[in-house]
Amino acid sequence: MAFLCATTRRTIDFLCTRPSVCGAEVRNDASELCDNWESARAMIDLDMGVVLIIEDDPAFRRFLRHTLAVQRYEVREAGNGRQGIAAALHTTLGLIMIDLGLPDMDGMDVIRLIRSFSEVPILVVSNRGDEEAKVAALDLGADDYISKPCTAEELTTRIRSASRDWPGDDEQERSTVFSNAGLMVDVERGVVTVDGCEIELSEPEFGILREFVLHAGRALTHRRLVRAAWGTEEASDVRVLRTCIRRIREKIERSPGQPRHIVTEAGIGYRLEILNDSP
Ligand code: CA
Repeated sequence: MAFLCATTRRTIDFLCTRPSVCGAEVRNDASELCDNWESARAMIDLDMGVVLIIEDDPAFRRFLRHTLAVQRYEVREAGNGRQGIAAALHTTLGLIMIDLGLPDMDGMDVIRLIRSFSEVPILVVSNRGDEEAKVAALDLGADDYISKPCTAEELTTRIRSASRDWPGDDEQERSTVFSNAGLMVDVERGVVTVDGCEIELSEPEFGILREFVLHAGRALTHRRLVRAAWGTEEASDVRVLRTCIRRIREKIERSPGQPRHIVTEAGIGYRLEILNDSP
């Protein structure tokens, strides 16, 4: 998108110059803005499942575009934060992929702004070793991350996990029962079986597993898992979380020392993998 109309430019200027872009104040401003534009947005793009790439590196953008095209996703591109916000305001999107290092704005602020008016899944694309930024982005409301450089296969896996919650998905097809490689978790009934045998979990252990199942395939931060287990975000609870994860692994993993279901995301948290093998 090379050109922004005057209204869009004014709107983004307005959003960007707020003293705090994360408060309820901006949330209200943005929702008013969206109310006004709802009909316009519906006319502009009725398609679901469009992926918006916000990335300033043309070579990496090309890689993303080609990988997505092979998977038959429709792609929109933005080379900076402002173009990205404009596209998110004007287009019905299924997924946003965003680089954190953008030329005009901090990618973190772009996520914050988009989250103030949209629940679209956001996949952060960031350099390896940038764990602190990834955690901050996930805690801000991004759904998952992928490290640069990455393979087309890694990218496809992450996109599939993120796309499980696409707005176009049929509610009926979503299930609260997770069944994968011998592990079955029925979130509503509170039943967990491993190779057909029911296992007992404590309340925090089930709280964590429930969070994993509802967001299977995605990286969940320590903070998020601590909250799922104990309803608090005290940093000191991270040590207790590790103990809790170890206990869950002892119950659900065939080799707890080499876990396959719950994998560690170093410096970030944990992820419930969706395994391809049969039980
Ligand atoms: Ca960049």
